[in-house]
Amino acid sequence: MTSLDEQRALVAQGCRVAAARGLVDGILGHLSLRVDDEHLLVRCRSDTDTGVAFTRPGDIRLLTLDGRAGAGGELDGYRVPNELPIHVETLLANPRHRAVAHLHPPAVVAADLAGIAIRPIYGAYDIPGAWLARGGVPVYERAVLIRTPALGKEMVAAMRGRPVVICRGHGITSAGATVQQAVLQAISLDALARMSLRVKGAGGTLRDIDDTDWDDLPDLGPSFTAEAAWRHEVARLPAD
Ligand SMILES: [Zn+2]
Repeated sequence: MTSLDEQRALVAQGCRVAAARGLVDGILGHLSLRVDDEHLLVRCRSDTDTGVAFTRPGDIRLLTLDGRAGAGGELDGYRVPNELPIHVETLLANPRHRAVAHLHPPAVVAADLAGIAIRPIYGAYDIPGAWLARGGVPVYERAVLIRTPALGKEMVAAMRGRPVVICRGHGITSAGATVQQAVLQAISLDALARMSLRVKGAGGTLRDIDDTDWDDLPDLGPSFTAEAAWRHEVARLPAD
């Protein structure tokens, strides 16, 4: 079990990776990590906040699932994000979800607004992304700020058991067993949206890859698809 400080550092790193990939802009967007039955770590805001790209471990605060300080001083100088219900309801809906990334990736929002459904239009270009698309990427059709448990539950219902959902005119929510998985999955979804827009922009037609190709799109294992991919994401972060 990693320490709380190590977990804060990992959530902060996830925020910086998401920002470096253009999945969030400015001050909006946040990540969370469930640490036990009653607590989660969440990216909070402060009066000296300079944006998601500059998230520090100290910006990651321990909360109870009902949004109160999880320990003495945790909310001194920090504010809980308005959209905390996105994290809490996603975590409560599925015990395998330990980490949640709520991001505002412009390409994903644009593709959805253009009427493009995310489909498996490629294969070996990004195998985890292809499988993510094959399983389906649902859309929550409301563009609202998800600031109540009722709206959080509504978004989770729209996820239909999938690990990601597009929030129309808003952003995405990506859930995983780890911070790395939640963020890498968001990066894959963004890549699918960018490629879809690019193909349409070139006048092409989006088609699912051939059914017979799936047998030869293997899961290359976590050491390749998650560990190496995460090392790369961290390595390409701007220097402090
Ligand atoms: Zn949002």
